[in-house]
Amino acid sequence: MNRLPLLCANWKMNHTPREAAAWARAFGDRIAPYAARFKEHLELAVAPPSPALDRLGEPLKEIGVHLAAQNVHAEASGAFTGEVSAGMLEELGCRYVLIGHSERRQLFGEQDIEIAAKARRLQSSTLRPILCVGETLQERERNATLEVVERQLRTVLETADGLGATLVVAYEPVWAIGTGQTASPEVAQDVHSALRGLLIERLGEVGRDVRILYGGSVKPANAGALLSQADIDGALVGGASLDPESFATLALASLETS
Ligand code: PEP
Repeated sequence: MNRLPLLCANWKMNHTPREAAAWARAFGDRIAPYAARFKEHLELAVAPPSPALDRLGEPLKEIGVHLAAQNVHAEASGAFTGEVSAGMLEELGCRYVLIGHSERRQLFGEQDIEIAAKARRLQSSTLRPILCVGETLQERERNATLEVVERQLRTVLETADGLGATLVVAYEPVWAIGTGQTASPEVAQDVHSALRGLLIERLGEVGRDVRILYGGSVKPANAGALLSQADIDGALVGGASLDPESFATLALASLETS
């Protein structure tokens, strides 16, 4: 089993390129004394809005943090106004791309099949997908959590069966995103363990190497308990990543349990 924990910031539609550069300076200063420990025990990544990707590439590289994108189109190029391609993101130095975030599913109508097509596109690139899955409150209340998250994961595994351990999964219960409500470590672990089972069923032993992140109101106070669960291999962090000081505190708390 080979799973280096990953902590990825998702800024959503926050921070201009100038603000992003200032964030990188402040965050870099704060984590610099721990650089060697991060290198060995905890991978860090930041997903800024697309206009800040170019500006952030070099500053993040200098402080050992990977660049991630928040979205990608399934086609390589063409008449898709407002979209970005995998090739563009590769050229900007991205390592990860979020696909299937619940805001993309809910606000922009993205369906499993389109998300799977994005994953398939990423197979022929150097980019690694962070596939977000998660149930709504109504789905949890009617005990459909596993059915929903397994369907979301299965569609991608069936369409993009060559991803192997480059795939990262993020379990993000929709009811916990931006609400301050977090799944308890035990509740999250149960879902992660079911996702791990499906990964092993579809990918064989490689399924043990796929990282499964938790996302949904992760903050410095709850990160340690979540990350110490057997199948929680890091976190995807929205609100608590916007302030460099808060994300650094979170990163250091996560380092303690990694
Ligand atoms: C997210 O949007 O991926 C997320 C986890 O947000 P928050 O941490 O704010 O709940």
